[in-house]
Amino acid sequence: MQNPLARFVPKLAGEYPKSFLKLYDQVSVPNGMDPEDVKEILWKAYEYGDRHHEGQKRKSGAPYFEHCIAVAEILASWNMDPTMIMGGLLHDTVEDTKASHDDLAENFGEDVAVLVEGVTKLGDIEFSTRQEQQAGNFMKMLLSVAKDIRVIIIKFADRLHNMRTIEYIPRIKQHRIAIETRDVYSPLAHRLGMAKVKWQLDDLVFKTLNPKAYKEIDSKLKSTTKERERYIKKVTTALNKELSAYDLKADVYGRPKSHHSIYKKMISQDKTFDEIYDKEAIRVIVDKMEDCYLTLGVIHQNYNPVQERFKDFIATPKSNAYQSIHTTVVGPEKQLVEIQIRTADMEATAEIGVAAHWRYKEGKGSDTKEIDSQVGWLRELLEILRSEESDPREFMHLLKIDLFSDEIFVFTPKGALVQLPVSSTPIDFAFKVHTEVGMKCLGAKVNHVVVPLNTELKNGDLVEIITGKNQNPNYGWLKFVVTSKARNKINRFLKQSNIEASLKLGEEILVKTLRRLKKLGLKKEIKSSFQKFGFQNEDQLLEAIGNGSLTVRKIFEKIAPDTNPEFDLKEEKPSRFSFTGKGKKSVQLQGIKDVMVSFGKCCNPIPGDEMLGFITRGRGLTVHRSTCSSLPLLNEQKDRLVPVDWDVAKTDLFNVRLKITGQDRKGILKDLTESISSQNINIKSVDMRGKDSVATAHFIVQVNNIRQLDRIIRKIKKVNGVDHIERAER
Ligand code: MN
Repeated sequence: MQNPLARFVPKLAGEYPKSFLKLYDQVSVPNGMDPEDVKEILWKAYEYGDRHHEGQKRKSGAPYFEHCIAVAEILASWNMDPTMIMGGLLHDTVEDTKASHDDLAENFGEDVAVLVEGVTKLGDIEFSTRQEQQAGNFMKMLLSVAKDIRVIIIKFADRLHNMRTIEYIPRIKQHRIAIETRDVYSPLAHRLGMAKVKWQLDDLVFKTLNPKAYKEIDSKLKSTTKERERYIKKVTTALNKELSAYDLKADVYGRPKSHHSIYKKMISQDKTFDEIYDKEAIRVIVDKMEDCYLTLGVIHQNYNPVQERFKDFIATPKSNAYQSIHTTVVGPEKQLVEIQIRTADMEATAEIGVAAHWRYKEGKGSDTKEIDSQVGWLRELLEILRSEESDPREFMHLLKIDLFSDEIFVFTPKGALVQLPVSSTPIDFAFKVHTEVGMKCLGAKVNHVVVPLNTELKNGDLVEIITGKNQNPNYGWLKFVVTSKARNKINRFLKQSNIEASLKLGEEILVKTLRRLKKLGLKKEIKSSFQKFGFQNEDQLLEAIGNGSLTVRKIFEKIAPDTNPEFDLKEEKPSRFSFTGKGKKSVQLQGIKDVMVSFGKCCNPIPGDEMLGFITRGRGLTVHRSTCSSLPLLNEQKDRLVPVDWDVAKTDLFNVRLKITGQDRKGILKDLTESISSQNINIKSVDMRGKDSVATAHFIVQVNNIRQLDRIIRKIKKVNGVDHIERAER
């Protein structure tokens, strides 16, 4: 038993508990701080935590505070500063004890109190396998990251220790926590560059969720330890000798790959344990960046490299700041061996990622610029989070793309490097450079050549964006952009301009209809009746009229059911092209059904045609083929163009006008008619004229879709004497 006084004045009594001294020994004391002062403040936190958690036990039966010490030790192993160590010691006090924020602030300063509060808030997150929930967790974590990334670092230390001691909690809870770690913590660790944390977590998850496979690999690794150690020793000895011949100071060692990564390889490459050659990687740590390349040269001089396995993440670091050179060579005994070369600084970044920026560095402050570039990625996502009434599933999807996509590197005209996910287009590039550049993007040049905006960019491309003052995003862009930022900005713009267009249109439809019915006096009453239709304001009502989800007829039925006005328009001259088939011909506008739709009589689109919709004042949407010759005129009002998709039954029929020219011979009309009818195609009308022995026929046929039409056209071409056939516009 220790001296009871020691708890309060251990310095005087000369006795600190062993577990405190063990922790203290691992803490790096920052430059300019007196080790005794550090010891004193750490002790204060230690004693406070110990006292507050007194009597609490973990599931294993151990005193609860042991967990807090373990978390602090993990933070010390990451070279975190004393404030962070205190945060680790106290991280559960607000949640689980009587301690309050103010109490902590008073005793340890606002900084520590804020850290603990942040961790406490993260602790509230209850995970469920439902995707929305999962996304919600992510969001909360990200939000707290943006405020203070140190909170996340403590949380990772906390999670790591909880995973290490997971065997003590009930099996069903183990499962839940392991899945949460796999789906939330591991991807985030990856994105934050915390590679070592990630693989430790992955291994613990693997052990929890798939204990049988884990044990199998574990025992195989153990039984081959000697052999692997022998080989690693052979390689490291040889490397050391060669490197010292060039006066290169290097720390060379073998690092076993994690159980999980070996298992992943076995599954993905469909190999047995024995067939996996690189169960171990050799790591070479050097002083300076130049030495990395010198080392690489020496290695390649001695061992043949496997070309496609060479990666230089120093010249082009990954966006999670990872830097290293990887090369796989044919080593001694003709065995393939992977070698990773990096400096000590890079090593720290590779192991603990963003956390490396807070660690104590000799003679250096923390590098704020690097932190910003790290957190910049998060800020972008946060902006999306805040800006949208975001669908959590959609958000999760975007996040996964951002987290796991491979990356390419392209350049601005000024030579700045821009990182983008694979398959990015100039639009993605434009939005990445600046939102305004994206919004006004008119065209693009790649390597000085003008290219379509959906061009996939490749590594090393020089990309230049041409902007136009009057240019705006359009629906077409959504078909090919890949970055969440671009997608989000485009969606927001389109949504906004759709609402505005519908609003305007709604007002026009209402006024026009009322005027026709001679009921213009009711306008005010109708507008203010929005609540009767479940809307919150006038604008929503008008918007509904504009997008076709509410008709003026419906409004009358509710507001003035007795008036019974004559709604039906007198049919304008029945057009030759009017549609007679059964079923309803309709199109879909970005998932919205039943908009007011009419079809361009100029081009008669049919299923399979690429189409564009044009918002027409007072008539809703008019649909044209995207090749329709009347579109260039419409093009001046590009903002009113929207892409549409067919929403028809397979049996719906559509009129198509065909113009056929050929030799004016006897029987040609009969031959043409027969070749069409033989395909079971209905002919609606025929008109044929002959002039100067050239026959011109106009057929209107009814087809289901473009494939059927193509078949007829091929068939007609075979008719004797036919020179030319085309789908005619009026
Ligand atoms: Mn904890």
